[in-house]
Amino acid sequence: MSEGILEGKLALVAGVANKRSIAWAIAQSLHGAGAKLAFTYQGDRLEDSVRKLAATVDSDVVIPCDVSDDASIDNAFEQLNQQLGGLDVMAHSIAFAPVETFENRFVDTSRQAFLTALDVSAYSMIAMARRAEPLMAARGGGSMVSLTYMASERVFPKYNVMATAKAALECSIRYLAYELGESHIRVNAISAGPVRTLAAKGIPGFSEMEEVIEQRSPLRQNIDSSDVGNAALYLCSPLAAMVTGTTLYVDSGYHAMGM
Ligand code: NAP
Repeated sequence: MSEGILEGKLALVAGVANKRSIAWAIAQSLHGAGAKLAFTYQGDRLEDSVRKLAATVDSDVVIPCDVSDDASIDNAFEQLNQQLGGLDVMAHSIAFAPVETFENRFVDTSRQAFLTALDVSAYSMIAMARRAEPLMAARGGGSMVSLTYMASERVFPKYNVMATAKAALECSIRYLAYELGESHIRVNAISAGPVRTLAAKGIPGFSEMEEVIEQRSPLRQNIDSSDVGNAALYLCSPLAAMVTGTTLYVDSGYHAMGM
């Protein structure tokens, strides 16, 4: 049904660590809809695996980008523009908080851990949006999507400072949507239910989150990363032409529940 809906579109997917990454599911959906893809990855240790995955979706545009380093982001967008030839779609699927923040009490969050979590998980969206804006505006507009989690709104014990970062991210999405809307650029977030990825491994009580979804969500089953990929495709396609500044829940409906 979505075949060809992104034909001719140029897309950046940031945050593929391995085939379990939500970013990888997004890449597959965008590729299936005809988009030409580029990838950014954080460190040298990931280059080979990201290159191998990229090749399976006909992409050889694989660029290093550490989002905590402005020079690295500048360099990545310069290379992206040269190698991909522009940008219509950007998927930001990146987050990090120091491991101790998931183990300690929230009240013990250090200043440095707070800054790191907010920097990598929220500020990075603003930093990337700023570099993506002129590339998208030059092509008449575009669409950006980022990944969040409902712990931004309600307490999920142990999610801690990452929840604070997600709240900042969601708020940033609304302000970016307002400003970039003038250039016909849409900016949205997907609030995903639990998915077993590398990042999820670090969250204590993750299996309990999955059990609760199975028992209490309206659809009584956990989501798959492909569900997030499909939602991202919708948000980045003309089907969502007038959708911006919103958070779309892909969580089996769990956000609707009171208990
Ligand atoms: P993942 O596969 O581990 O992806 C996280 C990505 O962030 C990795 O590629 C990681 O690279 C990258 N990253 C971390 N620090 C970075 C930096 N300084 N510069 C560039 N990249 C950096 O886990 P995921 O679950 O797919 O996470 C993707 C997004 O989905 C995150 O925003 C996460 O919070 C969100 N999310 C996940 C779930 C879930 O249950 N899994 C639910 C809701 C929302 P390295 O591996 O090199 O650190």
